[in-house]
Amino acid sequence: MLHIFNSLTRKIEPFHPIHDLQVGMYTCGPTVYDFAHIGNFRTYTTADILVRTLQYNGYEVKYIINLTDVGHLTGDNLGDADLGEDRLEKSAKKEGKTAWEVAAFYTEAFLKDFEKLQLTKPQRFVKATDHIKEQIDLVKQLEEKGFTYTTTDGVYFDTSKFEKYGELSNLDEIKAGARVEINPEKKNARDFALWKFSPQDEQRQMEWKSPWGVGFPGWHIECSAMAMKYLGPHFDIHAGGIDLRETHHPNEIAQSEAATEQTFVNYWVHSAFMLVSGQRMSKSLGNNYKLYDLEKEGYDAMTLRYVYLQTHYRQEMNFTFAGLDAAANAVKKLREEVRLLEEPTHVSKEYSDLFLAALNDDLNTSKALAVVWELLKSDLPDSVKHATLLKFDTVLGLQLDQIEKEETLSLEQLPRPVRSLIMQREEMRKMRKFAQADQIRNQVKKLGYDVQDGQDGITIKKI
Ligand code: AMP
Ligand code: ZN
Repeated sequence: MLHIFNSLTRKIEPFHPIHDLQVGMYTCGPTVYDFAHIGNFRTYTTADILVRTLQYNGYEVKYIINLTDVGHLTGDNLGDADLGEDRLEKSAKKEGKTAWEVAAFYTEAFLKDFEKLQLTKPQRFVKATDHIKEQIDLVKQLEEKGFTYTTTDGVYFDTSKFEKYGELSNLDEIKAGARVEINPEKKNARDFALWKFSPQDEQRQMEWKSPWGVGFPGWHIECSAMAMKYLGPHFDIHAGGIDLRETHHPNEIAQSEAATEQTFVNYWVHSAFMLVSGQRMSKSLGNNYKLYDLEKEGYDAMTLRYVYLQTHYRQEMNFTFAGLDAAANAVKKLREEVRLLEEPTHVSKEYSDLFLAALNDDLNTSKALAVVWELLKSDLPDSVKHATLLKFDTVLGLQLDQIEKEETLSLEQLPRPVRSLIMQREEMRKMRKFAQADQIRNQVKKLGYDVQDGQDGITIKKI
């Protein structure tokens, strides 16, 4: 049975889904004003490993990821997410595009990297700007129940009215960490905007009418509105980066539970940061690497995925090129080993159980990788090793099932006798002596190679 650390209780707990075999899971996705960096992708990879582990355990996962394309203000970096400029509008000015164009461009870039990293596609990527009505409806409900008040710049949630407020976060840490003056119109320091009014002196590109005035949704409300729309008012798992545990997620809980009067989410899963030289990798600090930066240096997405897998998701991870080199070597070695294995037959129960036990122990991916190498060293037949590795790869996502396809050999790479047989076979085919050509193919097979004819000529693979 899966055991997972739940930030709500600060304990590793057995996982009990609400429904027998179907799990509902939501992950906070990117704010699409810039490229997502490999720190962000660490968080999405943690969520991906959790989804795949749930699937390995036999659950069907209904998985939703959002794309924040409005309302995430720059004040968030300073401790007050209700102040500052909208990141999308700021990027639009800088890049000379519309906010909509910025969102479309970085969404596409994000989805490309998402795919390269083999991250499990959710049932839906949901955009904040596609769900303005749902967000307004939720704010209306909160207003009717008396949880809101209006200031000169927006409609706010009154956290003092929600008794359980902040159970997820470490309140003291937040107070000490706040770096900006508290907005004097807020009743409580941790109150947050549900709806912001457009500034009087400036026309925003993204703005909508609402019962309270023209404006745009606060950053947090989108996740409550969209998660509940697609997963229901009460679902199993909500994931995100560790920073979201302090403000964004407590606010999601407050809004949702105040509106529905029921538990929002059972398990909150938070992934630790990726650091560079001991500092958080972040877009605003400008110390981040993108997948593209690594690809330029000759590393592929699977190497980065291996790097993520090597460290437990609740441990901070320092990014270094030395670490990346070590992972690249490990991936190369793994591929070479898999290439030499015979056709897969059946899965080893012993190793599959060991692998699952590692993952079910709060997603211990480094231990799961150790099981991979133990399996390769074991005395099991190659065909069993192969089948078992392919099963592991449904969680590891290292594309071990695609090695054979990639590794077609050229004539020059073949041992001389095989090469000359293949050339003889080509002669036979040219003369339309297909029976002889087939005979030669069988001889080639006996020497351990398979030759296939295609539209673009022959392909040769090691069997
Ligand atoms: P953002 O695009 O800034 O809204 O962040 C998207 C996700 O990435 C959030 O879940 C963040 O918590 C997470 N995140 C941001 N920086 C890092 C980092 N350095 N390491 C891991 N996750 C991060
Ligand atoms: Zn969110």
